[in-house]
Amino acid sequence: MSQSVVWFRNDLRIHDQEPLTRAWQRARDFGGTIDCLYVVDPFWFGKTRFGLDRTGPFRARFLRESLVDLDRSLRRLGNRLLVAYGSTAECVARFAEQTAASRVYCTHEAGIEEKRIEKHVRKRLAKSDVELSVSPPNTLHAIEDLPFGIPEIPEVFSKFRRKVEKKVDVRSPLPEPTSLPAGAAKEMMASVFQVDDERFEAINELHPSSSLPDSRAAIHFEGGETKGLERIEEYFFRNDRLRIYKETRNGMLGPDYSSKLSPWLALGCLSARKVHELVRTYEEDRVKNDSTYWLIFELLWRDYFAFILAKHGRKLFLVGGLREMELPWKHDLERFALWCEGRTGFPLIDANMRELAATGFMSNRGRQNVASFLTKNLGIDWRMGAEWFESLLIDYDPASNYGNWNYTAGIGNDARGFRWFNTLKQASNYDGEGEYVRHWLSELSAVPTQFVHAPWEMHPAEQKRSSCIIGVDYPHPVVDLFKSADHHEQIYDQA
Ligand code: FAD
Repeated sequence: MSQSVVWFRNDLRIHDQEPLTRAWQRARDFGGTIDCLYVVDPFWFGKTRFGLDRTGPFRARFLRESLVDLDRSLRRLGNRLLVAYGSTAECVARFAEQTAASRVYCTHEAGIEEKRIEKHVRKRLAKSDVELSVSPPNTLHAIEDLPFGIPEIPEVFSKFRRKVEKKVDVRSPLPEPTSLPAGAAKEMMASVFQVDDERFEAINELHPSSSLPDSRAAIHFEGGETKGLERIEEYFFRNDRLRIYKETRNGMLGPDYSSKLSPWLALGCLSARKVHELVRTYEEDRVKNDSTYWLIFELLWRDYFAFILAKHGRKLFLVGGLREMELPWKHDLERFALWCEGRTGFPLIDANMRELAATGFMSNRGRQNVASFLTKNLGIDWRMGAEWFESLLIDYDPASNYGNWNYTAGIGNDARGFRWFNTLKQASNYDGEGEYVRHWLSELSAVPTQFVHAPWEMHPAEQKRSSCIIGVDYPHPVVDLFKSADHHEQIYDQA
């Protein structure tokens, strides 16, 4: 008989879930029980370096929904999810002791804090002679399949991609358990740990407003594997949008310009290999084209950042970034607040920042623009922006977030000099009619299209006619776009 615990982390699903599949196979071969545990650790609800909430309201809600969904799925298989609240190492170890488990299964996560916690769990379990069995993270390509070791991962994405595409096949998702033996947790203990509102009290108290979705949001993200799989069904098959993904993916408005799978991938409600498998199904059933390839291409970016984090670790989060550049970043809290609140006076930046603050999501085009503006026009410490994203994004993932910030701030491993996004040009390319900025900035609703991205150029009479007085209804630009970029380019070149 073999008692096992599956310690769920950011892998909240049943499909392609290696720890669960391994525990299931062990129970099938040797008999025994499986207890499924998630730990709500107050650490993840504490503050970041710059004093922001580590987990903001949107991700907290998404997490709660994902846990409820996982519990439902496990119940269908004859098991259930138990949720503990406290220090992860203590909770996992005590739980293993009380269920007399000899092995705990979990997924490895490469973030600094995540690794620290895993180390504590291992140490604490060793005291009770319990083995920790760790599976690789949720990437498209398994680390052991790569044609290079972690220390040899190419620094430049295109080199990484070419080698991987040439040499590696994506594995099929693992088989799902068809039924699971019930856990060993005694009824009294189970009632303490069961998934109900009380268990989530801590999350609820921290974020009482987290249940109010904004009606302007591109999509209502609901946590859980069920909703993640439904989104694939909707985007790929029902709306048939995968066939034109490459042409639409740079959009900013509406539900279907891109897949919106990132929150489910980040929390592990979807596995990357499952997405890959369903792209292949779509290709067989409908069409195989540049767009279907491009979605996989984007998942390769995700892999690349995951492996870069595994290679460089802490360096990704340090102020100098992967290039270890010493730049005199500013910590101007007033201007930082203008950026966070969407009051910089540049509509494209402000609309994106207001979308993030209201919904916990922003398009990739938007993220690139606002990150460039913060670092290359305002010269503000990129880590402050990264932490704002960390707090608010539903799809926050340490590797993708800090990797992309390194890249956009010009301190990443394949930075090619000082490359900044001219927000006016970007606005005219990607929001020519001003539909996106009007959606988020109601004060610009009557501004004529020719001024909608540069409202400060309106004559006072035009401002009056449009009910948009600059400095009253909408702010003056916080900086001169070109002078500020020139200034920071000089600083960058000196560094
Ligand atoms: P799609 O365009 O439909 O792409 C499909 C999937 O590919 C995404 O779900 C995502 O998993 C992956 N992907 C796409 N682009 C990237 C990319 N540039 N880097 C890594 N993976 C990518 N993505 C996160 O998942 N979490 C983050 O915390 C995060 N922070 C970011 C911060 C900045 C400054 C920037 C510029 C980008 C960041 N991204 C992050 C990447 C990207 O913006 C989002 O993955 C994407 O916008 C999510 O929308 P989607 O699912 O519709 O993407």
